[in-house]
Order: sequence, then structure tokens, then C-alpha cells
Amino acid sequence: MANGSKRDYYEVLGVNRNASETEIKKAYRRKALQFHPDKNPGNKEAEENFKELSEAYAVLSDGQKRATYDQFGHAGLGGGGFSEGFGFGGSPFEDIFGDIFGDIFGGGAARRGRGRRGDDLRYNLTISFEEAAFGLETKVQIPRHHPCEACAGTGAKKGTSPKTCPTCRGAGQVRYQQGFFSLTRPCPDCAGEGRVIEDPCPECRGTGRVRSKKSISLKIPAGVETGNRLKLSGEGEAGTHGGPPGDLYVVISVKDHPLFQREGQEVICEIPVSFPQAALGCDLEVPTLEGKVKLKVPAGTQSGKVLKLAGKGIPNLQGYGRGDQLVVIRVETPTRLTSRQKELLEEFAQEGGDTHPMGKSFFDKVKEIFG
Ligand SMILES: [Zn+2]
Ligand SMILES: [Zn+2]
Repeated sequence: MANGSKRDYYEVLGVNRNASETEIKKAYRRKALQFHPDKNPGNKEAEENFKELSEAYAVLSDGQKRATYDQFGHAGLGGGGFSEGFGFGGSPFEDIFGDIFGDIFGGGAARRGRGRRGDDLRYNLTISFEEAAFGLETKVQIPRHHPCEACAGTGAKKGTSPKTCPTCRGAGQVRYQQGFFSLTRPCPDCAGEGRVIEDPCPECRGTGRVRSKKSISLKIPAGVETGNRLKLSGEGEAGTHGGPPGDLYVVISVKDHPLFQREGQEVICEIPVSFPQAALGCDLEVPTLEGKVKLKVPAGTQSGKVLKLAGKGIPNLQGYGRGDQLVVIRVETPTRLTSRQKELLEEFAQEGGDTHPMGKSFFDKVKEIFG
């Protein structure tokens, strides 16, 4: 990396901005193996890469330093310069371009004469089983950057304005020779923005944005499931130096319910019934998402039998109809019998008759096969 400018630490490690500690550690190990001086004797570039990598890891593996860096970039760490790096973002075309040619160009494709797009943000929202079923409206506080008012997002002190970068003359990229190839890479002195700030705005330290919490209203539709993502376009981080904002993704996670399970649009509820109830039939009060309803259990109901409560399930996320509730009957074998109850059951067993047809047919088959 050339003179004075620094690459974005996340980019150096090749991880995204919300990477976990483990991901950061993994990425560091992988790249450290690649660039380690012992593996690349006499290779200046590998040595530089290794230094850069160690520095990025020292910051991103330290929670406090990482937070400072996230907020203020390299400037916040006293490293000088106001480069925000040339991370990801920009138009989809540039993202694809950057992905494919990233290795050759040493980073994302250069962007000329404009600010960098803000990062996408992820917000994890945990909701109850019922809220997932019926939807909810809520407000969340999203900590994020927004354009600095003092400098109108330019990063230049009030009354001054950013100057055309002398290194690249505003092009945002510089050419260099690699073997037979003449390649371009983002300009190291302006991080590909084509402009430099000589007199940074004191409010935002030249980044053009400041951090605060924003209250955002969310409308979660009925029928969402764990893992569903809601995209709020333009509600992510502000761009730097007037670049467009990123998007906000709200990722849903639904809490377990003590009585219900969910399978797609169906609500499943297991209900224990006693052996006499199952044998004689009964009326049950069954819990549903909207309170209790009556359900007739016919005489002779076997354990595992599924009874359906039509339209008592989860509404379709796209608004087409609603699933059913499935009631699974679990016949509970009586335990802790009194001696009188034992007597009654023995008497019941001695009575004989065709009370257990399933058992009878099973043992008839066993006899057929094994004699
Ligand atoms: Zn400012
Ligand atoms: Zn430049």
C-alpha cells in the first residue's frame, strides 16, 4: 500500500463490518499464513501486506478499538488521514466488478468523484409467537450514522470545500504496472473518492457523518417466521461525503411458545387425554391463538390421532388465507394407581371382548410369520 493512506481494516481482513470475533480471527489466521515473511522471503509486498494485516487485526480484535474505528475510521485511532477506505457498496455493477477483479485491483473498483455508499445495517428483532402470527407495529432505536449537519455531509470545515485530489487529479484511481499489465487501483490518497479534505469539519472529523440513534417504525406483517428479513431501503448507514445511504435489514427471530409449535402455516398442539376420556369420548377445551375453543374427541380415539381446527393456524405471509391448527391427541397411561383402581383395571382386562383390535391383528400376523 502506498504512501500515507490506509485501507479499510475490514477489507484488509476480507470480512464484512458485522463479522463476529471468530470470523475475524479465522480471516486473520488464513491471511497471516499467506503473507507471513517466513513464507515469502525477500518479498516486499508480502511484508507490507503482513504489516497491514497485523495492524488491522490488532484493532478489530479489540472490542473498544473496533468500536472507535467503526465510528471514526482511521482518524479515530489517531492514525492520521481521513480515509474511510474503499470498502463495499456502490452500484450492484461495481460490487460484481469488485468481487471478480478484487484480487487484481487490490480492492473494490474505484469510484470517481463521489462519496462512498453507506453500509447496510442488520437489526435483530425478537418477537413472540403470537406477534409472528398476527403481525405487529413497533418502533426500534437504530444506532447509526447520519450526514453531519455542520458540513452538510461533505466532511470539509464550514466555509471550505473538498479539493480535487492532486495524486489522481480527481479520477479516483491510479495506474500501475504489474508485469505486462497496466492496471488501475483506487487512489491511495483519496481512497478512490477523487477529492481530499484539507480542512476537516470538527464535528464529524472529516467523515461527513455523525453517529446517533434513530427511531424507526416497523410494520411486521402477519405470518413471519424466524429468519425472515425485512428490507428498509435507504435506512442503513449514511454514505460518506455525500454518498447514498445503505439499507437496513430487520431479521426476525420468533420466541418458542409453551403450548404451540409451528410448521409453516400450521399450529400444532399436543393435548394429553386420559385413558377413560379417549375410550369413552369427551369434550375438550383446546387452547388456540385466539383463546379456548371446544373440541369433540370421539369414543375410541387412539393416541397420536390428529384432529383439525380449520382456519385456526397462522395467516399466510402474502395474505392468502390462513392455516389450520392440528390437535395431536396423546393418550396418557394411568400411573400411581390406588389399589381400588388396580382392581378395576384387572377386572376390566378379565372382561375380555374385542377391545384391542389393533393389538389382535398385530399378534395374528406375528403368529402367521413365526408360527
Ligand atoms: Zn461535518
Ligand atoms: Zn486521489
